[in-house]
Amino acid sequence: MRDASTKAVTILGATGSIGLNTLDVLFRHADRFHLYAITANTQVEKMAEICRTYRPEIAVMADTASAEQLKELLQNEKGISILGGSEALNEVASAESVDIVMAAIVGAVGLMPTLSAARAGKRILLANKEALVMAGHLFMTEVEQHNAELLPIDSEHNAIFQCLESGYQHELTRNGLNNKGPKSKGVTKILLTGSGGPFREYPLDKFDEITPEQAIAHPNWSMGPKISVDSATMMNKGLELIEACWLFNVQHEDVEIVLHKQSIIHSMVAYNDGSVLAQMGNPDMRTPIANALGWPERIASGVEPLDLFKVCQLNFEKADENRFPCLRLARQAIQQGGTSMAILNAANEVAVQAFLQSQITFTRIAELIELTMKHVAHQQTDSLQQILADDQAARKFVNHQLSVMSVEV
Ligand code: NAD
Ligand code: MG
Repeated sequence: MRDASTKAVTILGATGSIGLNTLDVLFRHADRFHLYAITANTQVEKMAEICRTYRPEIAVMADTASAEQLKELLQNEKGISILGGSEALNEVASAESVDIVMAAIVGAVGLMPTLSAARAGKRILLANKEALVMAGHLFMTEVEQHNAELLPIDSEHNAIFQCLESGYQHELTRNGLNNKGPKSKGVTKILLTGSGGPFREYPLDKFDEITPEQAIAHPNWSMGPKISVDSATMMNKGLELIEACWLFNVQHEDVEIVLHKQSIIHSMVAYNDGSVLAQMGNPDMRTPIANALGWPERIASGVEPLDLFKVCQLNFEKADENRFPCLRLARQAIQQGGTSMAILNAANEVAVQAFLQSQITFTRIAELIELTMKHVAHQQTDSLQQILADDQAARKFVNHQLSVMSVEV
């Protein structure tokens, strides 16, 4: 039974890597949080197991057929309502009794339920960077207009957030774009760190032979397949650059990408007095999740304490855009503005899926994105309708290229 003093949480994407880490943190704090709803795409077995262990009030599958299967698996469990379909996703993200929404669906499909949470004025824990990349201006505006509260989960952005002054943190969570910007607080630069993924030093002439298995084996982080491939192409850092611009109200020139192979520093903020503040910790997503769940309080996460004597060394390098063309493409999308970022994101999603299914080589991912950005015209607007239309146009274009390629083969 729900205790009125606890905060009710919905997890969008509960079966994923972020979803499971969120469940782990939540259940260390049963005195503070209560699980209202969880959602998943089609992984019914995993969802049934989560329902039995964590007992949410509501479980939502992305389609009604999966919801029916889940009902069958849980027929002996009492007290869990099972729903299906995209409207149900929106409902559990915006229901009156919900306080906190963890947005951890992967990809553009996460945009609509995350927007629903913003429009309902919830505290949003944003892991789903694709939503912000494709509709940054619109999303930030909705957060402000509906008095929602936005906290970053992406480890780098959570680290940057932690390195900002507390008064400014409060401003950012409520009105991300409508403030004087971090320069007014003495910030001179944001240093966005990235490990460089598994191919930081891999011979460039062997990039075409990279397999999906090699690409998803990230050296430091354990993550879902899409973001793991994004880390390998470094499109992840490109998407994070766009994410940082929206979250912290900065220009892309104010953000420097720093390769840091140990993933111990999760990002830094440089100030005008020469100070550089860094947030450090073991690479474990439960730290940013606990930070955002408890903010402005600190709560335990279960993460191993950092042993600096074991780490020994911290290295830093510049990122090489020739090795990782996706970084250049992401910068180009920001410079072009409007729906360019939705086009970049959609092309990347389709290309990554094709790579994961061994339809294309690793290097073809960036080539397909570049081709899409050349051929699909972007619009200078933040209208949701246009964003969704250009997202679809980019997907259609990449799918067409893939079908032509399969005929050629
Ligand atoms: P994942 O693949 O492990 O999980 C994705 C979740 O989304 C699953 O619960 C899945 O059921 C759900 N989902 C997928 N397609 C769906 C659909 N069509 N409709 C409804 N639900 C759907 O992914 P992840 O690694 O947990 O990443 C989730 C998000 O968090 C991504 O946007 C990623 O970029 C971001 N993120 C992840 C990490 C990490 O460490 N895993 C770190 C930073 C940011
Ligand atoms: Mg990250």
